[in-house]
Amino acid sequence: MSADAVVVGSGPNGLAAALTLAKAGCKVRVIEGADTPGGGCRTAELTLPGFRHDICSAVHPLAAASPFFLGLDLPSLGVRLRTPKVAFAHPLDGGRAGWLAGSVDETAGGLGRDGQTYRRLFEPLVQHAPLILPDLLAPLRSVPAHPLAMARFGVPGLAPAKVLARRFRTDEARGLLAGAAAHTMLPLDTPGTGAFGLMFMMIAHAVGWPFVEGGSGRLVDALTSELLALGGEVQTGRWVRSLRDLPPSRAVLLDLTPRQFTELADDSLTARQRRSLGRFRYGPGVCKVDWALSGPVPWQAAACREAGTIHVAGTFDEVAGSEADVGAGRHPDRPFCLVAQPGVVDPTRAPAGQQTLWGYCHVPPGSDVDMSARIEAQIERFAPGFTDLILARSVRTAADMERYNPNYIGGDINGGAATLRQTVLRPTPRWNPYRTPVPGVYLCSSSTPPGGGVHGMCGVNAAQSVLADLHAPK
Ligand SMILES: Cc1cc2nc3c(=O)[nH]c(=O)nc-3n(C[C@H](O)[C@H](O)[C@H](O)COP(=O)(O)OP(=O)(O)OC[C@H]3O[C@@H](n4cnc5c(N)ncnc54)[C@H](O)[C@@H]3O)c2cc1C
Repeated sequence: MSADAVVVGSGPNGLAAALTLAKAGCKVRVIEGADTPGGGCRTAELTLPGFRHDICSAVHPLAAASPFFLGLDLPSLGVRLRTPKVAFAHPLDGGRAGWLAGSVDETAGGLGRDGQTYRRLFEPLVQHAPLILPDLLAPLRSVPAHPLAMARFGVPGLAPAKVLARRFRTDEARGLLAGAAAHTMLPLDTPGTGAFGLMFMMIAHAVGWPFVEGGSGRLVDALTSELLALGGEVQTGRWVRSLRDLPPSRAVLLDLTPRQFTELADDSLTARQRRSLGRFRYGPGVCKVDWALSGPVPWQAAACREAGTIHVAGTFDEVAGSEADVGAGRHPDRPFCLVAQPGVVDPTRAPAGQQTLWGYCHVPPGSDVDMSARIEAQIERFAPGFTDLILARSVRTAADMERYNPNYIGGDINGGAATLRQTVLRPTPRWNPYRTPVPGVYLCSSSTPPGGGVHGMCGVNAAQSVLADLHAPK
């Protein structure tokens, strides 16, 4: 079958692009190198039989807030989002913890003398979240549809997290902001890190930080079955080495990073175009660990036992120190760890009474250092007895991550560094970020706006550019 559009790569953005085109009546073929579709959204028994682990993405605030996923009837496609009562918690020494749960008021109530400051900062953001979120998930080069609401978000967010945190006095409130902002994988004195912290906390209040029942892979099953129902095709096990290898089509969408595009484009690019794409910066890597546990993690702080996600490192300064180390090319002794325990809302992940645990820390790009002992020591610090529960573990270094998925350049899971410049101008400073210099070839991966995470909006935005070009008067 000849296709109107060929999509290379079946991550959430590739599939979202394919679905958007198929819904517009295009014949679409997706070509995936790995043996299964899904990219960073797959689930598998990585440790022991009966323990289902999310290999990459596990926590889905961005999917829950995404216009693309909101436009699908997920329950009828077999997807149930399960939202923990506590979106995320931040343990501190001495059995204390910051936690974010439910409304702004409920969370502020747990923050003592920072409660009022928290309310003042987050109430207007959460109230305007339905206006702010679609703008954040749109190509950020366009004029926001709701400029006043965006200004409420953007003005405090432009500051580095380190500056924003000065508004708070308690370790709990400062820790919450540090953990949310450190998802950027950038040192916390970097401009724009405040915006990411605010965004993740605003979303936590607006829609929660849910898991997918049964595992993230169910999202991909839903997208592929919807695509097949619309007449689309998904071919797996075929790595594309050159654009010349692709079947003829009116448009090619690459769910790939600029570096892979440059390789595939061979001599279709001028030296200047290659240099421009070569300036795209990748972020640090991650070392990921999945555990099969004989029971729930014995966190000292009660809030951590109810939380879906736990940011493990201690105080703001400890998180900042860990991210600064990684930014300077060092492996932190006491790393900032992102830990998720789907079992708090999803008993299907492990045999009765047992648990899966998911976690990673940031490391310098391309690292082949196994950080599992350091990550476990950090968890043990706030949950004494944790290591006694470990039945099995699976470890992937940053170098392994890139071998698993070539989009993770050096183990960077966000498709490029989330600096302020690259958030607005990713991948290159072109007016339309999805078109490439090669006519008819588009990028649709998380290297394009709005960036990393499972939301599908890079794919949707790219597909809309394709449709506009296909229907443009010749
Ligand atoms: C450890 C980890 C934890 C994460 N946690 C979360 C989380 O909790 N929540 C969240 O929202 N996001 C999370 N993410 C990020 C999220 O997974 C990514 O941002 C998202 O998957 C990006 O989607 P994508 O479609 O742009 O690319 P990808 O999902 O990377 O898909 C790209 C696809 O292209 C294929 N491909 C590459 N090269 C070729 C080629 N030459 N030929 C054919 N196929 C090719 C790959 O095999 C892959 O399937 C995490 C990622 C990792 C690795």
